[in-house]
Amino acid sequence: MVNEEAIKEAVASIITAIGEDPHREGLLDTPKRVAEMYAELFAGLDMDPKEELKTGYELGHREMVILKDIPFYSMCEHHLLPFYGVVHIGYIPDVTGRVVGISKFARVVEIIARRPQIQERMTTQIADAIMEGIKPQGVAVVAQAEHLCMVMRGVKKPGTNIITSAIRGLFRQKAASRAEFFSLIQNNK
Ligand code: ZN
Repeated sequence: MVNEEAIKEAVASIITAIGEDPHREGLLDTPKRVAEMYAELFAGLDMDPKEELKTGYELGHREMVILKDIPFYSMCEHHLLPFYGVVHIGYIPDVTGRVVGISKFARVVEIIARRPQIQERMTTQIADAIMEGIKPQGVAVVAQAEHLCMVMRGVKKPGTNIITSAIRGLFRQKAASRAEFFSLIQNNK
């Protein structure tokens, strides 16, 4: 659980440390607001994304399913600044054709994004959660994101899209499945 009291004290210290006055009217409630915001932004630390994938349907659908452009917002663990963009997920159901509702995948992405993250690990955690949660024949996850720590500071490269991928199961073994996934997520983009 996020300790909101401790965050409040820490934020008040930061405000003082940058040379501002924590008692100035505009800053008075800032520690409390930041503490509540962090509790929300890091809520995924206490959650298991696999729980979201428990209810599935055996539709006998054994073809590839693709979910494109799932939006996400996360916090880079190096600077605690946001990085955000979209995630594309492809999976090939197990032999019974078991599928899971689209909203469940969006929840998996949200839970994993709401932690201090690096984009590479976020991508592999999404793939692994789906692999373990629904045991499909294969999973492919691609994340595209802009990192505010690259835009506002340091190298200042706005518009740079970082792309990461995690490939599991059949997608790893079969070049044709991989190619189908990548061509489908690139359509009209
Ligand atoms: Zn960063």
